[in-house]
Amino acid sequence: MKYAFALSALAASAYPAAVPIDASPICKFNTRALTGDIATPISKRDLNQTTWNPPSNLIAGLKEVWDHTVSTRPNDLNFKNYGYDQVMAGKGKIGYCVRWESSQKLTAAQRAKTQAKLSEQYNKWIAALAGFEKFPYKTVEVKVVGWAVKNKGLLEGDVSGINVYTDLDSGGAPQCSEGCGRFFHQDGDYSKCAAGAAAHYDNSLWLTEGFGGGAGGDWGQRIGSEYFMQNIDAANIHILLHEMGHTFALDDFYDWTPSTGGAFIMNAGGAMQITEFDAWMARDWWRNIKSRYGL
Ligand SMILES: [Zn+2]
Repeated sequence: MKYAFALSALAASAYPAAVPIDASPICKFNTRALTGDIATPISKRDLNQTTWNPPSNLIAGLKEVWDHTVSTRPNDLNFKNYGYDQVMAGKGKIGYCVRWESSQKLTAAQRAKTQAKLSEQYNKWIAALAGFEKFPYKTVEVKVVGWAVKNKGLLEGDVSGINVYTDLDSGGAPQCSEGCGRFFHQDGDYSKCAAGAAAHYDNSLWLTEGFGGGAGGDWGQRIGSEYFMQNIDAANIHILLHEMGHTFALDDFYDWTPSTGGAFIMNAGGAMQITEFDAWMARDWWRNIKSRYGL
């Protein structure tokens, strides 16, 4: 199974499956080289577009992508737990649970950096959407509302101000309380969240020791803990950005490439940052689902 979205149809207990959606080798970052095309970051010209008006050199490829989406994933058009839906439900706020699936200790400074980097990376996708077709948020407030660890001793420093969970999923990996997770409560009922509804999490960032590649979906993103910490000062943590793209409903491109080229981040290895093409693909999703919000 390739798309995490499909998971929502399964019992909640299926969420933390041992083989997550879009995991390596599906996200084949380790085996793909850069295409050699020139990746074009989203430009000021594109950021200022408020209606569908992509650069002329991308129009054909974008149409191919959308046609492919409609023909291969028709049911996904009705799915209502994408990043867009989460941002709308949270009125511009997104909560994260960080699942620290590692034996390494984590300092307070590392936790602070994780929070800051997560917010920065998430907002790179939001920047592509801001102001386009009435997408109402310029930025989204991303907050880590919980840390899940196998034992509390892994968290060094002051933990008095944070929610620490030692719950385990069915595979034995640490997770935040299911009562607080949007994946498990897509109706927004967090009455079973002991920390309160404000401490609910919309996404999990699952950091797994020794994990190659990535996984992403409506539940969040999963990448290697070493990879994340080694890149925590990088401007673009490209596997994380790619996996966030799946949270925003975007496809992989392992079996085909648009005629306009493959230099974009959702084409694994095709770019190290969100490109114009990625931004317009996300915009295409938004303009096609925004009517569910009366927009
Ligand atoms: Zn992928």
